[in-house]
Amino acid sequence: MPFSKKREKNGQCPKCIEYEWADPQRGYGKENLCVFHQPKNNKYAFAKGEKKKLDLNGFNGLVFERLKAGIEGGHICRFSGTIFPGDITFQDKERQRGNEFPSVSFYACVFHGDTSFQWITFLGITDFRKTTFEKRTDFSISTAKDSVSFEEAIFNDLAEFSKITSRDNGYELHGLTAESLQNVNFTHHDTSKLSFTGGKWPEKLWMERNCDKKYRDRKSKGKGSLFFLKEYPEYEKCEEVYRSLKIKATRDHDQCLISRWNFREKQMYRKRYWWRRYIPLTPTWIYWAFSGFGERPGRAFAALLFLFLSLSLLLGLLEMSNGVEQGVAATADFGLQAYFRLLRLAFEQVLPVKTELAGSRSWGGVMVTLIAKVLIPIQVALLMFALRNRFRR
Ligand SMILES: [Zn+2]
Repeated sequence: MPFSKKREKNGQCPKCIEYEWADPQRGYGKENLCVFHQPKNNKYAFAKGEKKKLDLNGFNGLVFERLKAGIEGGHICRFSGTIFPGDITFQDKERQRGNEFPSVSFYACVFHGDTSFQWITFLGITDFRKTTFEKRTDFSISTAKDSVSFEEAIFNDLAEFSKITSRDNGYELHGLTAESLQNVNFTHHDTSKLSFTGGKWPEKLWMERNCDKKYRDRKSKGKGSLFFLKEYPEYEKCEEVYRSLKIKATRDHDQCLISRWNFREKQMYRKRYWWRRYIPLTPTWIYWAFSGFGERPGRAFAALLFLFLSLSLLLGLLEMSNGVEQGVAATADFGLQAYFRLLRLAFEQVLPVKTELAGSRSWGGVMVTLIAKVLIPIQVALLMFALRNRFRR
């Protein structure tokens, strides 16, 4: 019988062996699991031959003990596969040295409570790959001397990464789902320290969603008498974050991301003021609504169609009422003629071919024709701009 098999039979936890712990722990119970790998609500150990259920403090105490041994021994500290049942704060307020972690592996761990790594310095390679954070987790003010990998980690609640210190791309948030990435929060100072390769981006980042929520709450409470002029400065911070992500994407020549972050950055500028957000007369609103800040060709095309149809309808109606005034029987023919006329006008504007344009019979018709002559080429230009932005990328 191989030695390891024999040792396992002697009560070693199979999960410790699976995750290659250097010191497999003693397992208990039917499944023979050690205290670290036991499920969330069933943490117990044996003391003096008696089965003793562990409370959260008791369990966290064992974790700190193991960590301390790792720190003092200077070897890799393995917690892979551990189930952390509740809240845990790793910062040791009394002993500065306790806040410097050696190489630690939290590979495939599950943190069921709020978890804080605030103020921690990760000295060696740190492994959070495939780790699940069920509640809030805090890495703010932490330092990575080497790389800290969060490849395929799952963040089910806010993951705070602001004020981190490391070399460029020291914190690797690779292969994250959109659901996880939308919970990651950081400021524009931290962007360069985070690497996001292979992940799926959500529509909005946590910071923006938080601002939207605050905005809604404030709006419903009706705070501030001069609501019309009120600024929402939190959006400026979001704008900075998106801008920093755009700069990062520019450095990486990732055209698709440049487009995404450019759109969001402009959106933040629009959301900052109530009037810029909703009043259709501001340049920002028009630029957004008619071309998605030059990033949405589909929207630009729809806007072109809308302009064309609405203006030609207006022209058709004007011609029709004019026809009535002149005693001509008002038939749908006038409207139909106007449509064709505007169609020709639009083509005349876009193509270099000159077609003869039948003159309008009314002042209103002339005005609408003039407006169309200005607006339609502008919208075509916007559409071309958006198309170029999309296909260059
Ligand atoms: Zn174990």
